[in-house]
Amino acid sequence: MDEEANPDYDTLMKQFHAPASLFALPMAWLLALAASAQQMPRENMDPRVTELWEPKPKKITSAPVAQPAPSDAVMLFDGKNVSEWTHLKGEPARWDVRDGAMTVVKGTGDIKTKRTFADVQLHIEWRAPAVIESEGQGRGNSGIFLQERYELQVLDSYESVTYANGQAGAIYKQSMPLVNATSKPGEWNSYDIVFTAPRFSEQGRLITPAYLTVLHNGVVIQNHTQVWGPTEYKGLPLYVEHGKAGIQLQDHGNPVSYRNIWIRDL
Ligand code: MG
Repeated sequence: MDEEANPDYDTLMKQFHAPASLFALPMAWLLALAASAQQMPRENMDPRVTELWEPKPKKITSAPVAQPAPSDAVMLFDGKNVSEWTHLKGEPARWDVRDGAMTVVKGTGDIKTKRTFADVQLHIEWRAPAVIESEGQGRGNSGIFLQERYELQVLDSYESVTYANGQAGAIYKQSMPLVNATSKPGEWNSYDIVFTAPRFSEQGRLITPAYLTVLHNGVVIQNHTQVWGPTEYKGLPLYVEHGKAGIQLQDHGNPVSYRNIWIRDL
């Protein structure tokens, strides 16, 4: 790669930071960006570089869709127990189950489904705490990781300021939602998710990326959005080959609740 096609890391990061150009980046440029980013150890990267603060998705009012599971769905949480879930190392899930919901118990860690999936339709309802204790990424933060890697953000974004590609409905640190449909804290939200898993060649090379379509409270917020790779807090995502994997819910230290979780293989 010559000098011009491989600019230095800072230049690339500035380009990455500019929201208007983000969606216009040609694939070759993105590949150069990723290759360049690889030259710096991820732990040394500044996490602010991949925050996009503008534009802000428009705030709208909406209502959650509490759709019962269709007959061919697998019920992952019916309000009674967490038998479909474990912590990441296989221990029984220790999140709190009461009143038809399960709630993050701070410090117990993420949970994931015992079952594994590829392409799915997933319905999930979530609620940020009614009591506001912090702001931005510290307010009602959780997340839904498709295939244990690709985070659809859960956050109290009702009246809280954070980077747009980190608010509720964002593919975290990648794509902001089309609108902000977040319910008031203490009220339920619904996500209806269509996930297309990435495809890899036998040699482990990416053939097609993952895609996400998401309805938040019945409103389209991600429309067949390309996923750039696994969610990263620092630096750019890079795909690494994997097979079927679970649905993972994040313990980010806030008592976020979930209910009525069902899934269909596609
Ligand atoms: Mg999160």
